[in-house]
Amino acid sequence: MNRHDYLEGERGTLYKEAETRIALVYPSPYRAAMSSLGYQQIYRTLHAMPHVAADRAMLPDEGDHERGLVTLETGQPVGGYPMIAYSVAYELEIAGLVETLTRANVPVLRDDRDRRHPLIVAGGPLTFSNPAPLLPFCDVIIVGEGEELIVELVTIARDCGFDRDKVWAAIADRPGYYLPKHGEHVPHVAAVDDALLPARSVIATPNTELADMFMTEAARGCSRGCTYCVMRRSTNGGMRIVPREAIIAGIPAGTRRVGLVGAAVTDHPDIAAIVRDVVDGKREVGISSLRADKLTDELVGLLARGGYRTLTVAADGASERMRRVVERSTRADHLIRSAELARAHGLKTLKVYMMLGVPGETDADVDELVALSKELAAIHPRVAYGLAPFVAKRNTPLDGTPFAGIGLVEDRLTRLRKGLHAAGLRGKVEVRPTSARWAWIEYMLAQGESVAGLAVMDAHRAGGKFADYKRAFEARGVSPTGPRARVPSSLELIALKKKRLSVTA
Ligand code: SF4
Repeated sequence: MNRHDYLEGERGTLYKEAETRIALVYPSPYRAAMSSLGYQQIYRTLHAMPHVAADRAMLPDEGDHERGLVTLETGQPVGGYPMIAYSVAYELEIAGLVETLTRANVPVLRDDRDRRHPLIVAGGPLTFSNPAPLLPFCDVIIVGEGEELIVELVTIARDCGFDRDKVWAAIADRPGYYLPKHGEHVPHVAAVDDALLPARSVIATPNTELADMFMTEAARGCSRGCTYCVMRRSTNGGMRIVPREAIIAGIPAGTRRVGLVGAAVTDHPDIAAIVRDVVDGKREVGISSLRADKLTDELVGLLARGGYRTLTVAADGASERMRRVVERSTRADHLIRSAELARAHGLKTLKVYMMLGVPGETDADVDELVALSKELAAIHPRVAYGLAPFVAKRNTPLDGTPFAGIGLVEDRLTRLRKGLHAAGLRGKVEVRPTSARWAWIEYMLAQGESVAGLAVMDAHRAGGKFADYKRAFEARGVSPTGPRARVPSSLELIALKKKRLSVTA
């Protein structure tokens, strides 16, 4: 699809004459970009500034070999804008940043640019954990929640004529900005004033996974403490709730599909009432995060009325023991109850997210998952596991734990498949794994310093295959077993738990 096709499908696109135009670039294709509430929120925020407009651009769809990169709203080359602002969700999108800068004809490395070039800014979910690999490419990185800082930065940059030396001088001592002078020391994440909540989508389009869905934030952050998660309370200061009335009042008239977004939406104290308000208005509903321990007969019934066909929950550890390691409060009995509720309300599939390769995991944990699968399959005819290898992230208690190993994760996957087969569950319990190889690359970047970003650039230029990344990490000296990597012992895990309690008390 070209930009005209995309624009034609949209409702809510913002057009504005303005002295200052910012290119707002998403380093993944359109479908992912327009499913990102954070990206849409920054689009809205920039447009709300006097004399400022934001024009979107994304990583072109696969197979689009057209040279150059233009914005959707104006068709102007991205490289001609005074500022290019990126929203980066996770590690593997860094290659998209390299690709879009290349297509925009902007030198990829910060050190190769001067005052003739746009100011390159990045923010987004990746900055909550480890933005260091973005540093070789960016002039400024906004760390954490960006609604207030992007306004401040655009205001300052405009006053400075988008001259990066002047911008650096003006923001040098302000919190929330990660600048080249900080080196590997990433500043603390920023949080916005609660008055700015909730984020709401601006544009609805049929060309995303969430086709024509109006997204609205129900809560920000999380009050739980899973040891692998960057959204945990000690990173983000806990969950901030959006009142039910504010959520419902913000839904535009005529909306047919509503997405309630947040790290732990079902922890909202009024979640059932909110979902009822949505579906009573004859609207479909979607929730970004269902917690198995929060599902009730009433809530699942409402979800079924609101168009749900698949009940998706996360358990994350393969066994009770592994779920305790990651401090996930989901237990086997919660999953069994989820299967019962899904069946009772006619939902076609129960999908459970799991991680393999969690520190301390053994074959016995996989065997326990096979045993649990028998119980789930006896209740619900269609169970699917979304299986992702565990990747340790910065700003979490499990930061620094090594990747389990591509071979080991694949072996565990084979063991699970064989176990399900032997139990006669083939066709009843489906296994949908994500690639262990790409998870390893994600791990190298999640744990890497800024040099890891240079390796992404090299690998991307060499073709972007797994072998290119492997070679590039070796050539740049990015080590998978650097000084930070270690397997925590049981005692260390207990100590981590105590530390967390003291942090959050
Ligand atoms: S994994 Fe989910 S429940 Fe656990 S801390 Fe993260 S957002 Fe909260």
